[in-house]
Formats: sequence, C-alpha cells, structure tokens
Amino acid sequence: MMRAIGFTLLFALVLEASGVVNVYSHRHYAVDKKLYKIFKKETGIKVNLIKASSAELIKRIEKEGKYTKADVLLTTDVGMIELAKSKGIFQPIKSKFLEKTVPEYLRDKDKNWFGLTKRARVIAYNIDTVSKKELSSYEALTDKKWKGKVLVTKSAEVYNQSLLSSFIVTGGEEKATNWAKGIKANMARKPAGKDKDQLRAIAAGIGDVAIVNTYYVGQMKNGRSFSDRATMEAIGVFFPNQETTGTHINISGAGIVKHSKNRENGIKFIEFLASKKAQEMFAQVNYEYPVNKEARVSDLLKSWGNFKEDKTALFKIGKENKKAVMIFNKVGWNR
Ligand code: FE
Repeated sequence: MMRAIGFTLLFALVLEASGVVNVYSHRHYAVDKKLYKIFKKETGIKVNLIKASSAELIKRIEKEGKYTKADVLLTTDVGMIELAKSKGIFQPIKSKFLEKTVPEYLRDKDKNWFGLTKRARVIAYNIDTVSKKELSSYEALTDKKWKGKVLVTKSAEVYNQSLLSSFIVTGGEEKATNWAKGIKANMARKPAGKDKDQLRAIAAGIGDVAIVNTYYVGQMKNGRSFSDRATMEAIGVFFPNQETTGTHINISGAGIVKHSKNRENGIKFIEFLASKKAQEMFAQVNYEYPVNKEARVSDLLKSWGNFKEDKTALFKIGKENKKAVMIFNKVGWNR
C-alpha cells in the first residue's frame, strides 16, 4: 500500500515536471496571455514566460548554454530569429503539422524556426491632406513631394531593419541605400517613439504619412483609449508596391532552443500557436495576419482588403539585417 502511494506520488511529480514550457519572448501584445491560458486548459502544460528584447534573450540563451531553462524563443521579427539561428541556439523542429501549415516563404529552410504571424509594414496617411491616388510605393515616399512629411521610427526598430533588408534582397544594396537616404531627407522630424506614436503624429499634423505595422493601426482603432480611437478617424491605410514587389511582410516566429529540457512540450506549444483557433485569435484580437490559411481574419482586416505580399523568402531577408543596420548608420537615419 505504502509503495503504491509512493509510486502515485512519484508519478504525479513526474507529470508535474513535464507539464511546463519555458518561453523566452519579445512579443508585447495582450493576446499572448490569453493564448497561454487556453493552451494550459487544453494540454495541462503551463507556460512560464520570460519577456525581454530578442537581442537580450538571445544573449541570455547563449550565456546559459546547456543549463538554459529556455525551451522556446519567440521573436517579433525575422532579423532577430535569423540572428538566433546563426548563433546556433536552435535545433530543427520535426513537425508535419507545422510544415503543412506554415507556407515555405515564412519559415527557415533548415526548420530552425517557423513564422507564426504575418505583419504588413504599410503607409498610413492623413485622409484630409493626402489622397490615396498620391500613394504608390515605399520608393515613391523618397520623392521631393514628401519633403518634411514622412514619419517613421528609429533605425534601432527591427521592423525598419527588416523592411530595408527586404529592399537589399529585391533591389540590391545601392537601391536600398538610396531609399534610406531619400526617406531621411523627407522626414517630418527626427525619428522618435514607436509605430503608434507616428500615427498620433499624423493626427497632430506633424507629418502626413507614416511607415507602420498594420496591427498597431488595428490596436488603436479598436482599442480602449478614446483619444487613440479618435486619432484613427483621421487615418487611412495604404498597401504599397502593389504594382511591383508587393507589400513588405515580416513575421513573429518561434524556434526550439537546442538545450531545451521540454522539447515535446515546446513543439506542442508552437503547433498550438499555428492552430486555427490560436491563429484566429492573433488575427481577431491583435490584428496580425494568420499564417494558417484556415484561420478567419477580423472584420477590420477584411475591410482593408486583399493585397499583394512580397513573398521573398523571409530567411533571406533576415540574413541581411547587419547590412541594413550599416546602411541606416551610413545615411544618418536617426540624426
Ligand atoms: Fe510590434
């Protein structure tokens, strides 16, 4: 009898130990906590979350080496997840479900990481001062016509680094440099704040157009803040480069850490995030575009319509991150 109880206890302890997944994440969106709760309910696996910037998390995983607690690294951008791969902190993920669900251009060719949401970097504009007809491409924003009118975040923002990296891949380094120079020359002010602050600056009349990720438009449009909702009344969304390369797409993606102690739970976790249910929450609560084509998007995303994406393989874009940072420094983007 005693032995049976001891065994049951031991068994329970083992179960407890296997019931976690340690996630290092740079994601900073309210939808994530909701998803982790549902994951726990469905699988019994508890998500332990450590939040910091991707660069910090990568350094930490490197330093912790085989003693790391991290099972999964989640980044908000392809440049950082490619950096993680290049540091050798991932292991390939064996998952038929992920391979079937996540399109090839949104994942690593060596299966070190999979994209879980798409984010489009678009042009937001003041609907009172700019007509949609005046907008066409990222490149066109370098025209003299936009002098003193363009709003954008600093070059430290990975979303800008990946946008410029995509230009390096599709058009070469020189073209990318000219673009950065041209935007620098047309800035309404020195880069300041985050994407949402650029939208607020449009409403405040500081500039007419801003380069931002779509989900921030969604968060403000449907958010709790009255002033944010009012701000968005004045703002339109334009998907650039429809006639050419397509609108730049970035990803939020995940990989399994090489020295993970809960690999199976980590894979289950990433598969859950790619499932129809989780993908619809990403789309409907945080206004990101799903990678799973079975997921339905929110009415707001539907209202923006379909658009042509730049389908350049994301891993190629991620690899150009260092070059992009160098170009930004060269043209004095932040000065
Ligand atoms: Fe973000």
